[in-house]
Amino acid sequence: MTTEHFDIIVIGTGGVGSSALFHSAKRGAKVLGLDRFPPAHDRGSSHGQTRLIRQAYFEHPDYVPLLLRAYELWEELQSGFEEQLYFETGVLEAGPVDGELVPGVLQSAAEHDLDVEHLTPHEAHARWPQYWIPEHYGVVFERRAGFLMVERCVQAHLDGAIQAGATIRTGVEVQGWQPFGSHPQQGYAVTVDGQLITADKLIITAGAWSPTLLPDIAGKFQILRKPLHWFTADENTYGTDTGCPSFLFEVPEGHFYGFTAHDGRGVKAAKHSGGGVVADPLNVDRSLDESERGEVQNFLRRYLPDVDADSPEDHTVCMYTMSPDSHFVIDRLKLFPGVAFACGLSGHGFKFTSAIGELLALLALDENVPYQLELFAADRFESG
Ligand SMILES: Cc1cc2nc3c(=O)[nH]c(=O)nc-3n(C[C@H](O)[C@H](O)[C@H](O)COP(=O)(O)OP(=O)(O)OC[C@H]3O[C@@H](n4cnc5c(N)ncnc54)[C@H](O)[C@@H]3O)c2cc1C
Repeated sequence: MTTEHFDIIVIGTGGVGSSALFHSAKRGAKVLGLDRFPPAHDRGSSHGQTRLIRQAYFEHPDYVPLLLRAYELWEELQSGFEEQLYFETGVLEAGPVDGELVPGVLQSAAEHDLDVEHLTPHEAHARWPQYWIPEHYGVVFERRAGFLMVERCVQAHLDGAIQAGATIRTGVEVQGWQPFGSHPQQGYAVTVDGQLITADKLIITAGAWSPTLLPDIAGKFQILRKPLHWFTADENTYGTDTGCPSFLFEVPEGHFYGFTAHDGRGVKAAKHSGGGVVADPLNVDRSLDESERGEVQNFLRRYLPDVDADSPEDHTVCMYTMSPDSHFVIDRLKLFPGVAFACGLSGHGFKFTSAIGELLALLALDENVPYQLELFAADRFESG
């Protein structure tokens, strides 16, 4: 029996995998993408209408070069796609002056010479009366920030990949993979619904299912259940085209974020911190938890008082794949250097997916990677 053979197989064609597929195909590789679910589905981590994108990264200044590349690549992707992918609403960030968020944003902006405005709460309120901000908080406004339409971005990458010659198969489950031949460099065999397909290289981008496909590092990750909520809001006050920014707040109850009212769906808001542990990502509980929604409603009543927090419109449930330090893991497997992967994006990875997909394609094709990858190295969790 002959098996099919590809230059690269990408396992998982969600946020990161769709981009890896696109960039691999664009570089001329014969590439196959495999996914259990159809394109831009709502069963993993890349759904729910919108994702924040911003540059002055409070999480760590070392993300900024990758972010700047992500911005370039989103723009390039837009030029070949009809529907708008990115809305530059600006993002308002507020929190304690000695907290994690505002000092982190200012540090990243200073290190990378990024354009941010540092405001007093009074100045911010005068400009955007839609927000109430405690007097002792620091406030930063990033103009070059806003949101990406998440499902459209995945679809745009997949469309581009197909145009560049990629093969995509969905509705298929990858049961596992193994090196074939006497030396790992010879290639890899992937078991898909009981059949073997081979490739010179693998890219594993399986999101919340990564631990099952990357057993070496499996025990390090925790999957969290993350609900998103939409609320009724006046489009003239909180609408995307009104000059109202999207937001990220650090408050005593945790980190909360949200988006201007868009496409008639109201303001979307969520809590970034916390979340229940998911034992089986295929069977995550998607029902509404009133107490979780109550936390978001209390946040809105206080800080976005003109949103109708008592009129919830919709909710959906998504998953974060948390690494131990909340930083990404993007690397090759030590024992099998032909396997590149990205996982543990820890709830802040979507904005980067255009650039992470390119990076994975470069790793798989043994091309030069123009970034420092120490922050993302898998061996940082090894003891000793
Ligand atoms: C509620 C929420 C809000 C977020 N907000 C933001 C934000 O504002 N800004 C931001 O930058 N990031 C945000 N993120 C994070 C970001 O969305 C994720 O980091 C990113 O989408 C993860 O992409 P992924 O490709 O790793 O996972 P996914 O998109 O889930 O892709 C994994 C794919 O692998 C497939 N797969 C897995 N195992 C198998 C198998 N065995 N066989 C076949 N297919 C398989 C799955 O079906 C899936 O399609 C948020 C995440 C959530 C959940």
